[in-house]
Order: sequence, then C-alpha cells, then structure tokens
Amino acid sequence: MLLVFELVAIILWLTKDNLFYLFNFSYIGISISLGLFLFIKKYRNARRVVQLLVGLYMLVYLGLICNENMQIEGFWYYLFTGVFEAATIHYAVAKIFGPLLFGRGWCGYACWTAMVLDFLPYKIPKHPRKKIGWIRYITFIASFLFVVFLFLARVGHIEKIMFWAFLIGNAAYYGVGIALAFAFQDNRAFCKYICPVTVFLKPMSYFSLIRVKCDKEKCISCGRCKKVCPMDVDVTDNSRKRKNGTECILCMECVRNCPRNAL
Ligand code: SF4
Ligand code: SF4
Ligand code: SF4
Repeated sequence: MLLVFELVAIILWLTKDNLFYLFNFSYIGISISLGLFLFIKKYRNARRVVQLLVGLYMLVYLGLICNENMQIEGFWYYLFTGVFEAATIHYAVAKIFGPLLFGRGWCGYACWTAMVLDFLPYKIPKHPRKKIGWIRYITFIASFLFVVFLFLARVGHIEKIMFWAFLIGNAAYYGVGIALAFAFQDNRAFCKYICPVTVFLKPMSYFSLIRVKCDKEKCISCGRCKKVCPMDVDVTDNSRKRKNGTECILCMECVRNCPRNAL
C-alpha cells in the first residue's frame, strides 16, 4: 500500500511539478500503512485511527484551509474546467480507478462523512436492508445538474460558490446521515441509500483485486461474519456476484470475529 501511494506521489510530483502531491499522497500512504500495521498487531481501533488521520486531514486541511471542494460537485467542477487537479485527482485515485485495487477502502478508511457516522451507536444494522438504494442516483444526477447549471448560466465567482457548496454539502451530509442512522438504526444508512459517490464506487469495486474471501474448509457456517457486517455482505460466498458484494468497505469486522480464522 505504501509503495502504491508513494508511486502515485512521485509521479504526480514530477509530472505536475508540484511538491504538494508528494506530501499529500505520502501522508495518506503512511497513514494507511500505520493502520495496516496496527491491524496486524490486533489493535482494535486500527481502522478508526486511519479514518481520523485521513478524514480530518482532507476535511480540515484540504477542504476548510485550502478551500478545495473535494465533494462530488468539486469533481464535476474541475472536470468541466478541464483541470486535472484537486478533486479530479482525488476521485481518480480514491473513487474511480483505485477501487480496482482496493475496492471501497475509501469508505472504510478515509471518508470524512463516515468518520463521524461510525461514532454513532448502530455499528451493526438492527433491521434488514431497505430497497431504496435508487436514491443515490437522484443525488448523483442532482450534483451533476447543479454544476452544469452554474456553467450554462455563466454564474460568476464559481470558485467561491464551490467553497460554500462544500460547506453546505458537508453539513447536509452530516445532518441527513445522522438522522438516517437513528431512523433506520444503522450507522451506514447514508452510505447504503443516499451517497452519490457510490455510483462510481460500486461498479469499480466489483473488480477489486483486494477482497475478503472465505476458506470453505475452515468455515463452520456459524453466521457470525454476516451478523457483524455493517454493510450486509454475504461474505462466505466467494463469487464476485455475492449479495451486497460491492458494498464491502473492507472494515475487517468479519475477519476479526470469525471463530475459525476462515476469512
Ligand atoms: S458511501 Fe459515501 S459517505 Fe459512505 S463512506 Fe463511502 S463515500 Fe463516504
Ligand atoms: S464467521 Fe467464519 S466460520 Fe462463521 S460463517 Fe463466517 S466464515 Fe464461516
Ligand atoms: S464486515 Fe467484512 S464483508 Fe462486511 S464490510 Fe466489513 S470487511 Fe466487508
């Protein structure tokens, strides 16, 4: 992981002649590697350490201090302006091409929305999944149309609007995310039904190189892994088409809880 991130850091630093990329991707790579090290050492909160290190860095430093809109609107904005910077690089690495390697690792280890939602009391969903995942397509299209409108209407000071969109968008995500978590008794309800980013994440993570697999020889079908999974993944099915397979956030709760070390 560290090597992958260092490679990205060095390539972007040299091609874009900007030292920031070396610092940025090295910091993220070191944070993730630290988390993996803590996980191997069986430290219970290893994932949460990475989530806070990366999530706070992106929200506070990149978002609030550097005024980069790293939300999906920021991605559309930089894409339309034809600039391969900030949000477009972030999306390419974390949410579009990265998931081919590390699936939805972003959702488990870096997202600043989930960083807060994971503090809520419903780590394991109390009810079966609802069939309202289509809402994500509405929020996805809405974010796209919002930026299209800004460009077509030739609205001035778009940079400033994008910063405010970042603040208001984040406040809305936290508000809706927390309300849904309590309403559905499920910390990750926002991720399952509303988050527009999953429109990119789900199809790409289908092909993920890194995934949790089950050793059928060891498994005693106790069902513990499915019970503790925050995303309702049928993790004992090794096929890529397993139920909710593209929802796996690689949190490793199933791995930690398997009594037979079958995962
Ligand atoms: S689904 Fe969306 S809100 Fe949830 S962790 Fe992933 S990117 Fe963050
Ligand atoms: S927890 Fe382990 S042993 Fe139990 S069903 Fe899951 S993989 Fe099999
Ligand atoms: S508990 Fe296992 S299957 Fe469920 S999201 Fe976490 S890593 Fe994926």
